[in-house]
Amino acid sequence: MKTAVSRKLFIEAQRYIPGGVNSPVRAFRSVGGQPLFIKRAKGARLYDADGNSFIDYVLSWGPMILGHAPAPVIKAIARAAAHGTSYGAPTELEVRLARMITDAVPSMQQVRLVSSGTEAVMSAIRLARGYTRKDGVLKFEGCYHGHSDYLLAKAGSGLATLGIPDSPGVPMDFTRHTLTAPYNDIKTLQRLIQTHHRELACVIVEPVAGNMGVVPPGDDFLPTLRELTRAHGILLIFDEVITGFRVAYGGAQTLYGVTPDLTCLGKIIGGGLPVGAYGGGKEIMQLIAPAGPVYQAGTLSGNPLAVTAGIETLKKLKQPGLYRQLDKLAARLAEGLGNAAKKAGVPLTQTRVGSMLGAFFTRGPVVDYASAKQSDTQAYAKFFHRMLEQGVYFAPSQFEAAFLSTAHSAADIERTIVSARAALKSL
Ligand SMILES: *Cc1c(COP(=O)(O)O)cnc(C)c1O
Repeated sequence: MKTAVSRKLFIEAQRYIPGGVNSPVRAFRSVGGQPLFIKRAKGARLYDADGNSFIDYVLSWGPMILGHAPAPVIKAIARAAAHGTSYGAPTELEVRLARMITDAVPSMQQVRLVSSGTEAVMSAIRLARGYTRKDGVLKFEGCYHGHSDYLLAKAGSGLATLGIPDSPGVPMDFTRHTLTAPYNDIKTLQRLIQTHHRELACVIVEPVAGNMGVVPPGDDFLPTLRELTRAHGILLIFDEVITGFRVAYGGAQTLYGVTPDLTCLGKIIGGGLPVGAYGGGKEIMQLIAPAGPVYQAGTLSGNPLAVTAGIETLKKLKQPGLYRQLDKLAARLAEGLGNAAKKAGVPLTQTRVGSMLGAFFTRGPVVDYASAKQSDTQAYAKFFHRMLEQGVYFAPSQFEAAFLSTAHSAADIERTIVSARAALKSL
């Protein structure tokens, strides 16, 4: 595989951009080697600066559920751009997207649009605090909710660990308000809520964890979360930035039948443009300025290009049978990878919810961050590079999901499985 142009660009990038990238995982640090610079993308394919092409299972980390550059979305964006790119005043487009979102996700009676998932979560937490007049946040180890101060904490060790900042620059005073518990661990959850419910404003969770690889919720996990929070006057926030419009049109809450108080969205609802959203019951949402006193604003919020991309994407996603088709393709990919691993004698623990797939290089089971961490990340790194050499682009980290789009064909899946057989055999 030729990489001369990407290498040259990466050297130059590092002169002007810290680490040469604008978001850390892009740098390939956890798999070694150098990132590929992408020139264009179409359908399920990425094309890099050296002219290599790849079947893409990263899909910009989730948003591109229709594949890259889907014609109707691109046309609509171009039309919108010709009318101006931002007004700082309300538009009918925002109303349309807000209506589509609230129709799709019944727990969201009202929604506020922002420009990233991080911003959505940050704002939802502020709202939960404003509503409950409490400061505490409980999150789960291995769940990622954007890079805001309060949420850059996971557990140190032990069970009821108080939040320790994961990053310099996050004051201890901030993460002091953050409690963490292991994902899927109902006992710890019960104990933490018993002890801390008077301080807790909210519990925030990825209803299907997608930032430690894919870790689905156990049968009782989400219902128990719902019961406990409701019983103690704590808001339940579903961070559906990945799962929203991914695992089902109405998100994980529709799939599992558990209704949160607040929901955060992002990724897919922007159709590949910068977007986020948060929403919930009208009574809570009416606290947001200017309807209420909880302040939150944004110069580019509800941006006409992003909103247009979102509307066109959601329109497509409404087509009957679309999620079933994605599920079928994903099932075939999972089956093929599983068989290839078995044949090669490589221990692989697979997880999947619809078109979100996980494959951990460990015997498993994987139910939380600690068990995900048992994975052989060096084996993953080798697998990743061998797939890349064969034209298949998985995430440059063991702890990320693989995503499918409607642009992936059965032939793409079969080619990927053939490549995986070779890659796994060579480990
Ligand atoms: C990506 C992601 C975010 C952050 O969204 P950005 O748009 O990157 O700020 C938040 N929560 C989850 C679950 C995510 O996957």
